[in-house]
Amino acid sequence: MKWPSLNLQILLGTAFGVAIGAYFQDLGANHAAVVSGLYVSSLVGTLFIDLLKMILIPLVFCSISVGIANLRQHQQMHRVWISALTYFVATMMLAIALALLTSNYFNPGSGLQITMFENAMQNFQAKQLPLPEFFAQFLHGLFVNPFAALAQTNVLAVVIFSLILGIALVMGGERFAHVRQLLQEALDITMLIVGWVMKLAPFGIMALLIKLVALQDVAMLGTLAKFVAVVVSTTLLHGIVVLPLILYGLTRISPVKLWRGSRAALVTAFATSSSAATLPISLRCATQHLHVKPEIAGFVLPLGATINMDGTALYEAAAALFIANLVGIELSMMQQGIVFAMAMVAALGAPGIPSAGMVTMVMVLQSVGLPAEAIAILLPIDRLLDTVRTTVNVEGDIVGSLVVQKVTLR
Ligand code: ASP
Repeated sequence: MKWPSLNLQILLGTAFGVAIGAYFQDLGANHAAVVSGLYVSSLVGTLFIDLLKMILIPLVFCSISVGIANLRQHQQMHRVWISALTYFVATMMLAIALALLTSNYFNPGSGLQITMFENAMQNFQAKQLPLPEFFAQFLHGLFVNPFAALAQTNVLAVVIFSLILGIALVMGGERFAHVRQLLQEALDITMLIVGWVMKLAPFGIMALLIKLVALQDVAMLGTLAKFVAVVVSTTLLHGIVVLPLILYGLTRISPVKLWRGSRAALVTAFATSSSAATLPISLRCATQHLHVKPEIAGFVLPLGATINMDGTALYEAAAALFIANLVGIELSMMQQGIVFAMAMVAALGAPGIPSAGMVTMVMVLQSVGLPAEAIAILLPIDRLLDTVRTTVNVEGDIVGSLVVQKVTLR
């Protein structure tokens, strides 16, 4: 018998994960089979994420420094930089504009009363995050001792250091040929290990989905159904219509080809809710299935996983309008403009880890005088919403690598 392909295995893992999770939800959390089932899926899911995280930092370090070194040789570096950043900013702006449009149209939260959630809010102490402090912290986090950054999985600082190292490698030319060769080989080795980790993806994804579905707070989901529906459908609209249109318009690559080539990364993003943990798989999908050159993917994807977050940007804006509706405040055009700008900053600054967007959202709410404690209302459903927005975040990064490749290597 022929063994099914990895993609098919991942698809089966997803279907089984959702089905078993729903069955567990039905049986109830105290059922003996559910307790042991959840214990095992928790172990397997965590193991899968640990493996991805284990390889993440060596991969980011090698892929960016080697990528920059190779790009600079071809004198294309500045075009890659500019087109990547332009693409990141433009797509995030589109996502936020979509969120504002749909939220203003459907007004989720307007039928609800903030008093319904008083209990949840009382037990929640929002950490103050004023913009100047956030900016100072962000800036301070950019340049860090590389060994500390590597050891602490500080992705953004590793990205910055690897960029600088890549430039130094080029400046040094032949003098550093050995180091460049060493890094290239280290990158090849890490990609080989990623291939092994991928073989476990069907089990890891199944385990994560069992836990996710089994532990869903269904009652809260019902209360916030309209908000969930607006956020999920707007995020899907961005992922299924807007991004593919941009891709097709600029590169003539069809959405089907995009989704086929990136499905392992998209499903992993959905199950892990972490762009960073998904990065090893995104890199593999982009280079091996979508034929993005390693030097472009190696630069655009790690950078995108840390700063380019369309789904998060969209969510930050939609959630702010939802909370404004809940507390009965009508945000003026001017205030919505502030929400627009702050949602952008909050998404740029959120690291690619689960629920990171919730932390930076405090800043968006405070900027227009909304109560930060209201985040407590959204926390119980965040694990679920995070799945969809992280998937679109990762899709945006992969589309970005294809677009940048097209516009720079003409
Ligand atoms: N989980 C998201 C990501 O990793 C970030 C967020 O919380 O929005 O892309």
